[in-house]
Amino acid sequence: MKDQLDLFIMIDACGWEIIKTRPHFLAQAAPHRRRLTSVFGYSSTCVPSILSGRWPDEHHNWCYFIHDPQHSPFAALRWLRFLPKALTSRRIVRRYLTKLVKRYLGFQGYFDLYNIPFQRIHLYDFTEKKSPLKPKGMNQGENIFDQLEAAKVPYFVTNPNESEEANRDRLNADITSECIDFAFQYWAGLDGLLHRVGNQSPEIDTKLASYEAWIMQTLQTARQHYRNVTLHVFSDHGMANCDEHLDLMRSIDALGLRIGKDYNVVYDSTMARFWFMNDNARRRITAALEKVPQGRIMPKDELKHLRAYFEDGRFGELIFLVREGCLIVPSHMGERPITAMHGYHPDDPQSFATLFSSTPDVPADVTHIPHIHRLMLDAVQARQQPVTTTFALAA
Ligand SMILES: [Zn+2]
Repeated sequence: MKDQLDLFIMIDACGWEIIKTRPHFLAQAAPHRRRLTSVFGYSSTCVPSILSGRWPDEHHNWCYFIHDPQHSPFAALRWLRFLPKALTSRRIVRRYLTKLVKRYLGFQGYFDLYNIPFQRIHLYDFTEKKSPLKPKGMNQGENIFDQLEAAKVPYFVTNPNESEEANRDRLNADITSECIDFAFQYWAGLDGLLHRVGNQSPEIDTKLASYEAWIMQTLQTARQHYRNVTLHVFSDHGMANCDEHLDLMRSIDALGLRIGKDYNVVYDSTMARFWFMNDNARRRITAALEKVPQGRIMPKDELKHLRAYFEDGRFGELIFLVREGCLIVPSHMGERPITAMHGYHPDDPQSFATLFSSTPDVPADVTHIPHIHRLMLDAVQARQQPVTTTFALAA
């Protein structure tokens, strides 16, 4: 029997709007629930923010693709533009190519070629070359895994290359063998389901019920092997149904400006990020975007307030964001529409995240998802206290 186990379980996209009407979810395991404000961006920034306790303007893990021809690792892939689009726009072909490219370039984190056009792929760089789920995995600064290693606390972390069930079983096995004191479990299945079926589907209840059963099982195992077990279950963001599609690419293409000569752009699914090579392109694109009623150009002050402003414009000199429920399609993230999406403004209703805790002692100022890191760091630092106490007694 060991003394203390701290369990942190992240359910991707389990937003506040989804669980606020389901008061029974985790009522036994973690009855203390609260709404958390998310971080502006996608999981590519929300997860690193949770793991590091810092904001996009501090850790620099924001959006995946950026305009950076000088450092682009993709020049060698330009020959792929000769493949017929009927082939390369197919999701299954893209997925296969993604695997090959990831291995070829030695990327350690999440990687997807998505729908980036091969004829211009040499203009882009990819910003998550390391895995934020590993020590030294942040673009800047430390994450919780650096801190666990420094404190020599044995821990479990999800392997994203394995299924949810395999990770669940591996965590339970580590608990049974009492070889860990801390766990960070990351389940992405609900996110995938919500993207596919939307936030009103009855399938959500089935998925949540299985998560709850898994958590109860893990908790029961933990209590057989540890005297003290704490549990926090949380999400990174919510999910909004997309009932409106915006073909922004067509409106911008119609201006007749040249990509790579006048400007460059990444069309994410809820925002478009632009870089300009001349004033004419900046003026005309800005004017065109100002006429699009489904979204708005994010002001510098607002980006600063959201901690997602970058002085050097590396993630885009102009950020256009659509309103909740609108999907940019086609985009560089996908050729075809999907049912639901996230990555809207953090103040939009469906963006809010959740925190469920087994203890009522979560400080009131844990209000945003980066604050979850503080709960994790407190758990790590609590283990170093007995040493201090011994010294104090000896003195
Ligand atoms: Zn997602």
